[in-house]
Amino acid sequence: MPELPEVETVRRGLTPVLVGKRLARVVTYRPDLRVALPEGLAQRLTGRRVVALGRRSKYLLWHFDDATVLIVHLGMSGRVRVFDGPPPPRGPHDHVVFETDAGATLRFCDPRRFGLMALSDKASLDRHPLLARLGGEPLDESFDGAALAARLKGRRGPIKNALMDQSVVAGLGNIYVCESLFRAGLSPRRRAGTVQGQRARRLAGAIREVLDAAIATGGSSINDHRRPSGELGYFQHDFAVYGREGETCPQCDCAGRRSGGIRRIVQSGRSTFYCATRQR
Ligand SMILES: [Zn+2]
Repeated sequence: MPELPEVETVRRGLTPVLVGKRLARVVTYRPDLRVALPEGLAQRLTGRRVVALGRRSKYLLWHFDDATVLIVHLGMSGRVRVFDGPPPPRGPHDHVVFETDAGATLRFCDPRRFGLMALSDKASLDRHPLLARLGGEPLDESFDGAALAARLKGRRGPIKNALMDQSVVAGLGNIYVCESLFRAGLSPRRRAGTVQGQRARRLAGAIREVLDAAIATGGSSINDHRRPSGELGYFQHDFAVYGREGETCPQCDCAGRRSGGIRRIVQSGRSTFYCATRQR
């Protein structure tokens, strides 16, 4: 499932392909993905020029010259494939196709159809139901310890669950929450409201570092914006704790101690990985 760093990498990869270009042709091959595609999507976007490509949480925001904004979510399995010349035959899961006036073809491929497309306009974008309740954007300059502490103040549940709440921090999924808590040295079981002051500063910094490192990895692995297959959007990353139950963490010899290495617990139905020696 694409997480925030993957979506940001897709955004950066698509920027030179889309921004400043006009959509010469848009074709939808089915009426819905997770929900119905917007009515008249193809007609509304055909002939429009893309003026900017933004991102909020895991949503890609295509800004057009008439102030229309196309909101795209990749869901569980969505990918955007880019072809510069004549593309190969369309696959069964290529549900929406965009062609630019520069001759590029973009195909939105989504086998499981958990992806989503919606239309908004620039003026009311922040109030769109998909975006209105999202919390701080972790890569924004305004995201710091004080902002995070304010969101966590008074919360009684564990910090792991608070960070998974999209109204606290936008776009963080299970992997990057586990990695950020490890980097900050905070136990996932710690009561969220106690993460204030220095702890909140440490955690905000850790979240940004973990995301930046992942984006740097993704960016370098698709240096020419895409893989040879034309795919954008997924990359492997070395994790410190995620998926490493029983192993020793990069910061101590926990596997040889009584704590037995990286632990896996379940919080709100999701696996949490952490080092009980380093994270308090
Ligand atoms: Zn350890």
